[in-house]
Amino acid sequence: MRTCPRPTRGTTLAESQVLRRLKQLGDKNDLFRSYIGMGYYGTITPSVIKRCVLQNPGWYTPYTPYQAEVAQGRLESLVNYQTMIQDLTGLDVSNASLLDEATAGAEAFSMAYSINKKRNVFLVDEQLHPQTLALIKTRAEPFEVEIRVGSIEDMEFNEDVMGCLFQYPDTRGIVRDFGDVVKRAHDVGAIAACSADLLSLTLLQAPGDFGCDIAVGAVQRFGIPMGYGGPHAAYIATKEQHMRRLPGRIVGVTKDSNGNKAYRLALQTRETHIRRDKATSNICTAQALLANMSALYGMYHGADGLKQIATRVHRLALATKSELVSAGHRVSDGLFFDTLHVYPKDLAEVKARAADKQINFRYFDDGAVGVSFDEAMTERDVADVIAVFTGVERADCSDLACPEVDFGALARKSAFMTHPIFNTLHSETELMRYCKYLENKDVSLVHSMIPLGSCTMKLNAATEMEVVTMDEFAALHPFAPSEQAKGYWEMFDEITEDLCKITGYDAVTMHPNSGAQGELAGLMTIRGYHIANGNPQRKVCLIPASAHGTNPATAAMAGMKIVAVKNCGDGAIDMDDLAAKCEKHSKELGAIMVTYPSTYGVFDENIVEICDMVHKHGGQVYLDGANMNAQCMLCRPGDYGADVSHLNLHKTFCIPHGGGGPGMGPIGVKKHLIPHLPSHPIIEGPNQGSGGPIAAAPFGSSLITPISWSYIRMMGARGLRNASAVAVLHANYMADRLAEHYPVTYRGAKGRVAHEFVVSFAAFKKHGILVQDVAKRLQDFGFHSPTMSWPVNDSLMIEPTESECKTELDRFLDALITIRHEIQEVVDGVYPAEDNVLVNAPHTAGSLLATEWNHSYSRDKAAYPTEWLRQNKFWPAVGRVDDKYGDQNVVCSCPPMETYLD
Ligand SMILES: *Cc1c(COP(=O)(O)O)cnc(C)c1O
Repeated sequence: MRTCPRPTRGTTLAESQVLRRLKQLGDKNDLFRSYIGMGYYGTITPSVIKRCVLQNPGWYTPYTPYQAEVAQGRLESLVNYQTMIQDLTGLDVSNASLLDEATAGAEAFSMAYSINKKRNVFLVDEQLHPQTLALIKTRAEPFEVEIRVGSIEDMEFNEDVMGCLFQYPDTRGIVRDFGDVVKRAHDVGAIAACSADLLSLTLLQAPGDFGCDIAVGAVQRFGIPMGYGGPHAAYIATKEQHMRRLPGRIVGVTKDSNGNKAYRLALQTRETHIRRDKATSNICTAQALLANMSALYGMYHGADGLKQIATRVHRLALATKSELVSAGHRVSDGLFFDTLHVYPKDLAEVKARAADKQINFRYFDDGAVGVSFDEAMTERDVADVIAVFTGVERADCSDLACPEVDFGALARKSAFMTHPIFNTLHSETELMRYCKYLENKDVSLVHSMIPLGSCTMKLNAATEMEVVTMDEFAALHPFAPSEQAKGYWEMFDEITEDLCKITGYDAVTMHPNSGAQGELAGLMTIRGYHIANGNPQRKVCLIPASAHGTNPATAAMAGMKIVAVKNCGDGAIDMDDLAAKCEKHSKELGAIMVTYPSTYGVFDENIVEICDMVHKHGGQVYLDGANMNAQCMLCRPGDYGADVSHLNLHKTFCIPHGGGGPGMGPIGVKKHLIPHLPSHPIIEGPNQGSGGPIAAAPFGSSLITPISWSYIRMMGARGLRNASAVAVLHANYMADRLAEHYPVTYRGAKGRVAHEFVVSFAAFKKHGILVQDVAKRLQDFGFHSPTMSWPVNDSLMIEPTESECKTELDRFLDALITIRHEIQEVVDGVYPAEDNVLVNAPHTAGSLLATEWNHSYSRDKAAYPTEWLRQNKFWPAVGRVDDKYGDQNVVCSCPPMETYLD
C-alpha cells in the first residue's frame, strides 16, 4: 500500500542513531535543581496526562479547531481551561491561551492602550519579572507611549495613565496588597492589570476579587515541564466589558443544527484573518496542547488538590525561612508564597556551596538570593537549601517546622473550580477515559490526511517526538547558567547552521515562539536597521491583498503603515501596482511582506524582480517563510532576494500543531540585519542584536526545537529536497485530477501549482451550495476540510504534503469528486436546494438514528457516501454549529451540568 518514496539515507542519521545522539546531547545538559523561580517552576506531569495526551498523536496532531464539528474534544477541553483560569483569577472571561507570561504581559499593555487610546503613559511596578518588563518595552517602542517604571504604590496616577501592571506575588516573591493601587488606577479611569502566579491564587485573594481588570501569567507549573523556556501556556483573563479586546482565540458555547450544545471558536471577528491590521493582536498559533494538559492537571487535582499542593509549597518556604532567620540571614519582610528573598551573611559562600550541591538560585544584583519552591520538592530539598546557607547538613528532616498558613486579609475567600467537571476526574481510570472521550470527538492525523493549505499538516514522526519527555531536555530552567545547557546550545548551533543552509540566510535566531512572533521579530529588526541608518521615517509596509492575516496585524504592532498591493487575476502580485506604490512611498518605504510560493499556491515568476524593486526604493523584503515546505533545498529566500523570513517549525519542520500550538518561529536574516536582531534581558545567546525581546525565554520554546533538529538530521539535504519535490508533486497530482471536476483557480506560467492550490466553489453558490457545505460534507467522509475561503473566498486551499501516500490522496480526491456528483444532483433538481446531503452536513449518528426521518435522501446516502466508510467511519460529534447564535450569546465557560445529561 505504501508507495511513498523514502528519503535516502546517505550521511543522514537513522531513527535509532538520532535517539542515541539526542541522548548524548541531553547528557551534556546539567540538571541542577532549580530554585530560580521567575515564572518557571518544577512540576509533576501526571503520568496519565503524559501518556494519554502529550504522547498521543490523537491529541497532538490536529490544527486549530477551525472545523468545530470534528474538534469538539479539544474545544471542550479549552473551555475547561478557560473556566479554570476565570475561576482562579476571579475574572469573567479567559482566552484559550497565549504564548508565555511576558507576551501575555505585553498583551495586557496592548489592551490598556486600546481601551485608553488617547493616553500615553503605562505604569509598571519595578518588581515585575524582568523578562516581562523588557518585552513590554519592546512592544511599546514603536508607539508614542512612555513605560514608566517605579514602585507602583508611590507612582502618580493621572489622566495620562492608560493602565498599570504589577506582579503578584512580586518578582522577589513578596505578596503585596495592591487593592489601593487598583482603586487609584480606577479613580483616573486607568486599567489595572496583574501578572499573577496561578498556583498562589489557590490561597491568595484573586486579582478579580481586589478589582483588577486584567490578569495574566504563566500556566507552566500546572503540569508542564520547564523545557528550558517552553512550550507552556500563558493565560489572560479580563472583565466581561473588555471581552472583545482580548487577544488570541476564545472558545465559546453555542448550539448545533439539532439544538444540542456545541463548542466553537467565538468572536473571531477580533482575529487577524478577518480584521487584519485592526485585529486585537497578531496571535495565530498559541499553546492549545499545553493549555489542555494544564486544564487536565487542574481537573485531576481539583480545587482541594491544588490547594494542598500550594499549601505544601508554601510550607516548604515557611520552614526554610525560620531556619535561615535563626541562622542569622536576613529574609526580606512581608508575606510570601513560595519564594524567599534572602540577604545571606556570606554570598560567596552560598554561591560556592550551591554550585557544589548542583543547586541554582536566583542571584539579584544587590546581593540578594531568590529561593523558589515548587511541588516537585520535598523536605530533603529544604534541608539542602538550609545546608547551603548554614553549612550544616541535616540527616533527618523530621524536626523541620510546619508552620500555620496565614495570609491574613490577603487570604483567598472566594471559591473556585466548583463545577462538577473539576470534581469528578480525580482517579486515573476516570481521567484516562475522559481524555479518550475527548480525543474520540476530534479528527486528527491518526484518522486521515488534513490538507489545510498554508498549515502544512505533515507527519510528526514518533522518533522526533521522543525528546519532549526526556528529562535531560525537559527539566532545565530557561535562566539557568548557560554552561549548564551545553547540550541545548550545541543543538541550537547545529539547527541554526542547518536552517541557514536551507534558507540562504547568514544568521538564524531561535527566539520567537510562533510564526506571528517571528514576523514581529523580523519587522522590529527591519525597524532597528532603518533607524540605525538614519531612516526612522521608513515605516510603510507593502502587503499584498493575498497575505496571511498575521502579516498586516504584525506590521501594525511594529508601528508600520500598511499599504495594500493588488494581485492580478492570475494571483501574481500586480507589478504595475507594486511599482506605483514603491514610487509613491519611495522615501518612507520600510518593507514588503511577501509569501513565496504565494498564498495562491503558485511560484510567483516575478519574485526576484519584486525584491529588486523594493530594494531599489530603500525597503527591506520580509519573506513569510510558512511555505518553506515547497522549496527546501530547491530554492532559498536568501538567494532570490529576501532579507528576513520566519520559519514555522510547526509546519515544514515537523513540530506538531497540538490543536493550536505550540509552535516555533525562528527568523533568518541577511548579514546587514544581524546587529538589529532581538536580545534577551537575562541570557545572552548567539546572534543577539540591539532589538528588544519578543518572547519570554531566550530560545523560545526550546523543548520542541529538537523535534525539528531530529527531522533535519534524519532527512539530510537529499531527503529535504525529496520531501519538497514530493510535496509539489502531490499537489500537482491532486490539482490535475480535480481539474476535471472543479476549477483550479491559479496556476503558474508553466501550468503547474506549488505545494498547495486553490479550488473554487463559487459557481455553485447560485444553486444554494456554499463552500461551507462542502467543508462540512467532507466531515461525513471522515475528512477535515482544507483551508476554507482563504486567501480566496468561496474556495478551498489544498495542501497534501509529502507525508501522504497516493492511496490517501486518492481517497480524499474520491471524496471531493463524489461531493461534486452530489452537487450536480442538487443542480439538476434531484434533491432540493434546501434539503440535501450538503446543506445538512455533517450528519451525526444521533440524527441518523432518530425514529423520524423526513429528508429527501436516505440515511444510507447521508452516512455512507462511499463504500470504505462502512469499514472505517468517523462520526462527527455534533451537527453544524450555529456561529451566529454563539456570537450573540457569548458563553466562554463550562455550561451547567444539565446540558451534559441530555
Ligand atoms: C501559519 C502562518 C503564519 C502564522 O504562523 P503562526 O505560527 O500561526 O503564528 C503566517 N503566515 C503564513 C503564510 C502562515 O501559513
